[in-house]
Formats: sequence, structure tokens, C-alpha cells
Amino acid sequence: MNTLFIDERRINEVMQEARPPKGSRLRDILERAETLSGLGLADTADLLMVTGEDRLQIMETAGRIKRRVYGDRIVIFAPLYLSNECSNNCLYCGFRHGNEEAVRRSLTPEEAVREAQALAAMGHRRLLLVCGEHSRLSSAARIADTVQAIYAGADIRRLHVNAAPLSIDDFRMLQEAGIGVFQIFQETYHRKTYAVMHPSGRKSDYNWRVSAMDRAMKAGIGDVGMGVLFGLYDHRFEILALLQHIAHLRQSFGAGAHTVSVPRLRPAAGAALQKIPYPVDDEQFKLVVAVLRLALPYAGIVLTTRESAGMRDELLTAGVSQISAGSSTSPGGYLDKDSETAAVDQFKVYDDRNLKEVLEAVCGKGCIPSFCTACYRSERTGARFFKMAGKGRTGDFCLPNALLTFKEYLQDHDDGLKERGEEIIRTALNGINDELVTDLIENRLARIEKGERDVFI
Ligand code: SAM
Ligand code: SF4
Repeated sequence: MNTLFIDERRINEVMQEARPPKGSRLRDILERAETLSGLGLADTADLLMVTGEDRLQIMETAGRIKRRVYGDRIVIFAPLYLSNECSNNCLYCGFRHGNEEAVRRSLTPEEAVREAQALAAMGHRRLLLVCGEHSRLSSAARIADTVQAIYAGADIRRLHVNAAPLSIDDFRMLQEAGIGVFQIFQETYHRKTYAVMHPSGRKSDYNWRVSAMDRAMKAGIGDVGMGVLFGLYDHRFEILALLQHIAHLRQSFGAGAHTVSVPRLRPAAGAALQKIPYPVDDEQFKLVVAVLRLALPYAGIVLTTRESAGMRDELLTAGVSQISAGSSTSPGGYLDKDSETAAVDQFKVYDDRNLKEVLEAVCGKGCIPSFCTACYRSERTGARFFKMAGKGRTGDFCLPNALLTFKEYLQDHDDGLKERGEEIIRTALNGINDELVTDLIENRLARIEKGERDVFI
């Protein structure tokens, strides 16, 4: 497949011409971003050069855009690591093949169900299955079997997958098993750096990886999750390349990235990389998240526990719309975390709060935790989702479903959050100016109180 949609020459030209916008030019870009039309490469590159106080304006704008598209809700999920066996040798990862110290483990579908049940008991309803690349232990058939086993055996309503690129037939197998988003990070779009960081294994083929989203979409997976691993190469280059990749998908399939993740490179036991080649400091990182929200108003922006509690809390109001909570990054890590033979973690987790503590923090920021999985089950996916979002209709579903799923959590978990949570639900209901909508939600809240579950709009 032709992968020239990543045009390094063009990106370098734009970066060379970029200047930090000041005064009226900055205002002009921010006003345009607030129309939810997204940003082109040049505006994005300019904003990424902004320093000092002006950054705050960009973060505030990002917060407003996120609220306009998704309301105050923050989607909550947890990763479930299936396997840390890997035939690749990514220099930065603890799972890499050459890490001989690593304790390896691959969950059987039955073991994965038990982990999923533990997460469901905590309150999770949406999980991200994660695994290394292995032709047998992480084959599409094995992942599909696990997906079906979890749907049948645990109260989990949507499974997303973060695994290696697949063929069209294999993607189709996962689509038929009923996955939500398929997520693959390009790690770095810079070909030379990519070659250094991925010296062996299937992942060393840049083109196979960068064309994976095309194959996923051809196989009928409408929602793809994208991202880069910040720290490998110049973050400005990576963001511009990511925008080129997304523009290519929109042009070809009518849908861009359903989600964009912003992983920052973290220390990992057994990684081969001793030093982060292009560190992104905290201030730059906040700007990156905010600028992505301006450039891609309809993408879910995902922030994981690679970031500290303080950073995650701050970014809840600067563009982020989805966060993981209470995460373990090793296979079997939820039920078996203290055993001496616990499998190796993929990287160090920087926010080790449990789910309840994260929910408290979300509420403390004036946001509403959401365990919603409705869109994936109501065919609001792929190009349909983008059309609906473009008409400003995501809020019609996101807020009500956040309130319904949060109510369910409060009913089922006696963890001291109930009073506060109920108050948050009441305040949100009072803020809805449409009596019909309020009635609709109140009716469903009452059904949940009486014991009905999985009620959504
Ligand atoms: N093996 C699959 C792959 O590489 O695409 C999917 C799972 S991999 C465990 C998920 C992601 O973790 C990778 O795409 C990479 O961006 C990220 N990752 C790997 N090592 C990391 C580290 N040391 N710090 C932060 N993120 C890391
Ligand atoms: Fe394997 Fe993925 Fe880690 Fe690379 S990032 S070593 S492919 S698990």
C-alpha cells in the first residue's frame, strides 16, 4: 500500500515556517478552533510553539471545546493485559523479546474472564485488552475467543483492543467478535527513528504498521484509536504526521481517529533504551494535549496512568475526555499482583489511585464520571459517529448516558461516594433546559434505582 500520506518533507517545511502566534493572530486561531472545524498543519505547528501565559489560553479553549462536544463527562476504562509474550524488540518496552529477566505470562480466555470479573466488580464496564505480538498467544483467533468469553462471563459491555497490526481477514474476525475500538500507536512517524527503535520482529516494518488503520477500516472496524509514543522523536513532527494520517483516513473512509492517546515514554524494567531521546516536559505535554483537542475536536482524547495524579487531574479540564483508572500493566495483575512470580509490568504506572479515588477526583473537577458504552451498541460508530458529532449531537447522548451509568455505579458500590454523586447527578439534571430530556433521564434513573441495569439512550 502507498503510505506517502505521511509526507515528511511537507512536515519539515511547516515546522521550519512555524512561529508562535501572538495577540490578534493567536485570538484568530483560537476563535476558529472554537467553531469546531479543527486546525490545519500550519496553525497546529504555530500553536505548538507557544510559551508562557499564552499556553493557558490554549488550555482554556481546549476545555471549552471538550465541554461543547462531550459535555462534562469523562469516560472511565481500565486496561486488561492478556499477554506479555512478544516477538518484537521495541527498545523502550519491558515486554520486548530480548528482555530475558521478564516473567512471561499469557492468560487463557478463562483467566482473562476472571480478571474481567474482578474489574467489573470494581465498577468497570469498558476494558481495553492489551497484548504483545505473538503469532499463537496473541493471534486474532485467540483474542476473538477471549473477547467472546469475557462478554459471556463478565458484566463488561465493551472491549477495545490494543494489539499488533493485523491482516484484513484477522481484523474482520475481531469485528465479528464484537470489539469496539482497535487501537494501534505508530510510536513514531519518523521513518529513521522508527527503524532504530524497532530493530527486529514484524514491527520493524513501518509500512505494515502505518497502513494498519486502512486494513481495519476495510474490514469494517469503524472506530480506530491512534497515537504516538512521546519521547522518541520531536513531538511537533509527530503531531503533524498524526494529523496527516488522520486526514488520510477521513478522506478514504469518512472517519478519522475515534480516539487519540497521548502516551509519554516511561521507564520500563528491562527496556533497552537508557535515555529518552526527545523528552517532552510537563508544560509541553499540557500544550500537546490542548492543541490536539483544538485540532481534532471530535476525537476522544485518552490519558492513561502513565501520567501522575496531578497531571491527569489538571488535564481533565484541558481537553481530555477519557481516562483509565486503577490500572495494572501486567497480565494477571488485578488478581495476582502481589505474588513473587507476578508477570512483568509493561512500564511504571504513575497514578496508582484506585477507581474510587479517581472518581472522586473527577467529581472534584466538576466533571461527571461515565461508564457509558452506548454508542458502540447503537451503531453510532465510524463515519456515522463523525456525522452525528459534526451536527453537535454527541451531547444528546453523552451526558444522559454518563448520568445513567454513574447512577448505576453509585447504586452498586457502597464506597462513600453516593451522597456526593447523587448531588452531582441532580445538579447536572437541573442544568438541562429541555423538559422532555430531563423526563427521559429521570424515568431511567428511577428504573435503575429499582434494580434495572444497563439502561442507556
Ligand atoms: N504490542 C502492541 C503494540 O506494540 O502495538 C500493543 C500493546 S503495547 C503493550 C501498547 C503501547 O504501549 C505501545 O504501542 C507503546 O506506545 C506503549 N509503550 C511501550 N513501552 C512503553 C513505555 N516504556 N512507556 C510508555 N508507553 C509504552
Ligand atoms: Fe511488544 Fe508492543 Fe512492547 Fe513492542 S511495544 S515490545 S510490540 S508489547
